Amino acid sequence: MRKIHVEKIIETVKDLVIQANTELPEDVLSAFEKALRNEESPIGIQILKDLIENAHIANKEKVPICQDTGMAILFLEIGQEIQIIGGDLHHALMEGVRQGYQDGYFRKSTLDPIERINFGDNTPPIVHIDIVPGDRLKISVMTKGFGGEMMSQVKLFAPFVGMEGVMDEIVKIVSEAGANPCPPIIVGVGIGGNLEKAALIAKKSLLRKIGERNPNPRIAQMEAELLKRINKLGIGPGGLGGRVTCLAIHIETFPTHIASIPLAVNIQCNAHRHKEIIL
Ligand code: SF4
Repeated sequence: MRKIHVEKIIETVKDLVIQANTELPEDVLSAFEKALRNEESPIGIQILKDLIENAHIANKEKVPICQDTGMAILFLEIGQEIQIIGGDLHHALMEGVRQGYQDGYFRKSTLDPIERINFGDNTPPIVHIDIVPGDRLKISVMTKGFGGEMMSQVKLFAPFVGMEGVMDEIVKIVSEAGANPCPPIIVGVGIGGNLEKAALIAKKSLLRKIGERNPNPRIAQMEAELLKRINKLGIGPGGLGGRVTCLAIHIETFPTHIASIPLAVNIQCNAHRHKEIIL
């Protein structure tokens, strides 16, 4: 049994929170560069240049990529041959997030939903845990702002709607979101499962590298078609018009019930902040 001490987990989560909020992943920067080559609108080009410059400044000066430093979402894959020692895992995850937001001087955004009183430390994180074979611990941290989250939706359709209806709905949701989720966006889609599973796989799909297609050819084809349709909406960078509204669309699926086609659309803004590590 491999042992991992909670102190190691606290330190790791703290570092991932700071890195995620200040270092935009390489695949996102490459997607900005590609978008710059495809964009025709002068203001769209300027916004993309600003986003690239902003990301470089944030990285160099270790300041947040965006003022909304988000809620921390933690995805853990825990090998079943690992033993967490020295304390409580959930406490360690809370503490890592608390220290990351404190030491990074990031905005604290979490509060009580009824009283609207800010907790002052950006806890609790939202935690998803998978138990997997082996003795490795993978921790992924996503710091997600709520511009994209608030434009996201879950719907459960009757099966007669079919995939054409589902695809029309995805385009409609993005169209209605307009400039609100700070485009260019990444669209995470979950099809299948049930209410919560669809939402979870939609969010997890955002961890896929930009440009990677679903290995299923039919789903990959849907991703390509949706990307084209969304970019024809003309929302553009910053919502000010242009060819590049969406950098990528990632679809994940899960078996579902005969009575339904669950659909979740999780929109991610241009500040697509996430970091992963394997311990
Ligand atoms: S939606 Fe994203 S880019 Fe826009 S303010 Fe929120 S975190 Fe920042």
